[in-house]
Order: sequence, then C-alpha cells, then structure tokens
Amino acid sequence: MIGNMMFQPLLISSLIEHAATYHADTAIISKNTDGSITHSSWGNIAKNSKRFANVLQSFDFAVSDRVATLAWNNHRHLETWYGISGSGLICHTINPRLFPEQLTYIINDANDKALIFDKTFLNLVLSIKDSLPYIEHFICLDAYDEKIQNAFPEVLFYDELIESQSAHFDWPELDESKASSLCYTSGTTGHPKGVLYSHRSTVLHSYATCLPDSFNFSAKDCILPVVPMFHVNAWGTPYAAAMAGCSMVLPGPMLDGASLVQLIDQYQVTNALGVPTIWQGLLTAARQSGSQLKSLQRNVVGGAACPPSMVQAFKDEFQCETIHAWGMTETSPMGVVNQLKAKHLKLDESAQFELRFAQGRPPFGVNIRISDDEKGRTELARDGQTTGHLQIKGHWIVESYFNQFTNTVTEDGWFDTGDMATIDQDGYMVISDRSKDLIKSGGEWISSVELENIAIAHPEIDMVAVIAATHLKWDERPVLIAKKSASSQVTEDTILAFYTDKIAKWQIPDKVIFVDSIPVGGTGKVLKKDLREIYGSILLAVE
Ligand code: AMP
Repeated sequence: MIGNMMFQPLLISSLIEHAATYHADTAIISKNTDGSITHSSWGNIAKNSKRFANVLQSFDFAVSDRVATLAWNNHRHLETWYGISGSGLICHTINPRLFPEQLTYIINDANDKALIFDKTFLNLVLSIKDSLPYIEHFICLDAYDEKIQNAFPEVLFYDELIESQSAHFDWPELDESKASSLCYTSGTTGHPKGVLYSHRSTVLHSYATCLPDSFNFSAKDCILPVVPMFHVNAWGTPYAAAMAGCSMVLPGPMLDGASLVQLIDQYQVTNALGVPTIWQGLLTAARQSGSQLKSLQRNVVGGAACPPSMVQAFKDEFQCETIHAWGMTETSPMGVVNQLKAKHLKLDESAQFELRFAQGRPPFGVNIRISDDEKGRTELARDGQTTGHLQIKGHWIVESYFNQFTNTVTEDGWFDTGDMATIDQDGYMVISDRSKDLIKSGGEWISSVELENIAIAHPEIDMVAVIAATHLKWDERPVLIAKKSASSQVTEDTILAFYTDKIAKWQIPDKVIFVDSIPVGGTGKVLKKDLREIYGSILLAVE
C-alpha cells in the first residue's frame, strides 16, 4: 500500500520559488568585480532568474545541456544558477584559477553550450575561446561595455539579454533525479573528474545544511559564503540560504582579510563560510583594524583541517563559535559537521574544546565508516583510535563520475574518500591525512595535519605545510615548510623546540624551511604536491 500523501519532486526551482514567495524583501548584497555594491533581494533574484530562463529558452538548448559559469560570488551569478538549473539545464561551475589547458579540457569534456563569465575573466576567455568548439554563446555577466564588445565582437551582455525578457517563466516539473549542476574535482592527479549533482541530492543536502547541528541557517541570519560558488557550489550555501530565507552577502573577487572584515561589519554578517587560509587572513586583518567582528556568531571552516588555535582565537578574541566541517566535491560537500551533544555540555570547558577538534559527525542522510583498504573489505573499529580508509554513502554522495560509465563505489556501495580517519563510537570522525599525504617513517604513520596544527599555533608563524621528504634510513620523514609573520626573527631551533611535549619525539619534523609564500591551489588549499616536488629530496642532500 502506498501512502496517501502528495508527491512533489524535490527541485531547485522550488527553492527560489519559496524564497521569492516568503522572503521576497530579504536582502542579497553583492560586491561587483569593480568593487561597487549592488543591493538586491530574493524577490529580484527570482525575477531575474526567470528572465534568464527565458533567454536560455530562446537559445533552443536541449534538456540537460550544460551551461558553464566562470564567475565570482555575485548576484548575477546567483540569478544564472537558478535560471539554468530551474529550466532543466545543467549549471557547470568552473574554477577560474585552473590553468587554461585544464579549463579547455573541462569545458570540452562537459560539452558546454554556453559560457557565462565575469568581466575580470575577459582575457582568459579570449585566450581559450578558439579551443572551445561546442560553445554557441559567450555571455559577459555585466552591463554592455563597448571596449569588451570591440575586443570580443560575438559576446552577449547579461544585463542587455535579460532587460528585454519577461519575468514570467513556468519552471518545468522535472524528474527530481535529473542532473542540475556539475562541478569538477581539483584533479591533483590525472584529468579533473566531473561530479554531476541532481535536483534531489541538492535539495536534500540543503535540508541537512540548515539543521541546527549542521550550519544552523535561519531566516534571522545573514550569511557570507566566502567559499566560491565554483568550489562545490559554495558548499551549497546559495541553495540552503534560499530554503531558510537567509540574507546573503556575496563578496565578489576581493577575499582578503580587510575586505571581509569590512563586509562583516557593514552588513552585520552572522555566519560566514570558508577555508582555513581565508580565516587566517581575516583574523590578522580584524586584529589590525581593531574590529570586534561583533555580529559574527558562527563561522564554518572546511576544505582543509582547521587548526585548534584558530578555533581558540575566534572564541577568545571575537566570541565567535567556529564550526569545523569536512566534505569533498564528491559529497556535495557536507559529510560531517562538528557540533556537541547534550552529554558533552556536562564536561568542563577544556574537555569540550578537545572534542571540537574533530571534523565532526554525520547528519541524517549520510553514513561513514573506516575500512582496512580502499575496497572496503573489512570495517574497522569505531573506537576513536584505529585509523582506516574513510568511506561514505548517502543521498548526496557521488556514485559515478560524469562521462565515466563505471561506478566509483565499493562492491557494497560505499565511496572511498582517499582520506585516512578515525571514528569514535558517537560517530565523531578525525581526519589524520589524505592517504597520499601521510608520512611513513620507519613503517609508522605520522599525520602531517597534527604537525601543522602545532606549528600554526606558534604566534610568529602565519602559514605552514608539512610534507613527507624521502629519507635513506626511515623512507620518509616530516619536513615543515613555514611562512613567518611579518618582521619575525624566529629560528628553526625555536620552532622545533615548540614541538617538545606536544607530540612524540620521533614525530617531530627533521627540518624547518622558511619560505616567503606557500603555494595554494584554486580552492585555497596548500599544494603539497608542488612542495613535495621542490623539497621532497631535501633530506637526501644532508645525509
Ligand atoms: P575538494 O573536493 O577539493 O573539496 O577536496 C576534498 C578534500 O579536502 C577531502 O577529501 C579532504 O582531504 C580535504 N578536507 C576537506 N575538509 C577537511 C577538513 N575539515 N579537515 C581535513 N581535510 C579536509
């Protein structure tokens, strides 16, 4: 017997319809590429997304054709998202920080039919456009600009295109399993791979994001997604914000600490989301400017391990609760979020603080386990001690990559994340490393994340990365690459001494290399592969 309840497909168009109907006047603040600010609202975003859906319809694309975006977090980009996915096309967000050859590969692999780009990427688009045979329309995400038109005669301008269109569009009633958006993984090895999200997975992921023990989004919040819309859909924030009716501040291209402090203070941001390197910059800028970041109640940190000293700094100096979360492109991205349970509130403050260092536990909708190998043959103990290959399954987890017709999951249906982790009996998961970043010293594992967390807590260190360097006797030994804070005279010996009593002696790095800058990739993560190429043999030289 089937239940007697209504069935409505879970569609992205229903998110923007909800926001337009019940939160029409809620503000969407957007910083444009030229630094100016646009004040919009969910009502206006919805109208323009329908105007853009009408534009797309006039292009005569087939259902599920891909439309690519190469843009920062701004209001026009948000409108295109809803217009594309809502009308049954697939929104392919592209990371502009990739190399031109990678961009060309991704756009052609996805068979994108249109390319929408921010003005700032004009030269980039001009440099690759002749290698993009499938693109039928190039759209500059801005008002008409004569200079651009002259440099790029076939380009169309977003503002002009939507101006003449009706704000009426009947969103099609799609099958909820249909693809809605596409995002390629950072691709540290081989070609980048596409992850194709569905309307259903996106809406369910949004529900889970809004839960109080997840990111706790509410209609009282003003959210600042610093994480770019081209990095796993800004962690799903633009969808979840529409579901909860949050106000949003879209920061555009200026993601330095000072610009973010200004946006937070001016627009009374309550919750902001980004990778640790972003928060490091924000902390420094807030201290320098004397801002108390008064409105900021929570900040979500993910994409890389959040050092405990950062959680402490936000709490002690800014009374801001830092929520640590883990996820990946293949997991939409929310996998686990660190929120305490009632029983933990009885613990003293330092014990509670210890618990906050974990990446977190899964919300309803995802399940995690650790296994003895990538294939998931034997599940390992949930004892908080045993380290194994982290595997995950759930409503918003990838089953196979785009254009690849084999499942990427184990025989019993779990996705192997490539991360090594422990899980305790309550499901709190701690990442020890990417499996490829673990350091194997004399057959024993050393976690680079743990060594980085200690070094970054030193007051004169701004940024760190620990890599495995080849060693004649121990196979691999840890080497710390560190960037000192401005005018610091700290020495290698001081930093190595800082490890004493914080970690077993044999785990202390063999060497510290001070550098002026540490390379980060398109999503703000340290490029350990590049560092290994440069410094991976440094211990051989001193043997
Ligand atoms: P991406 O698909 O580019 O978002 O990268 C996903 C990878 O980032 C994960 O597999 C982890 O290795 C890493 N990652 C994400 N969040 C965290 C976190 N909170 N702590 C440690 N590593 C993380």
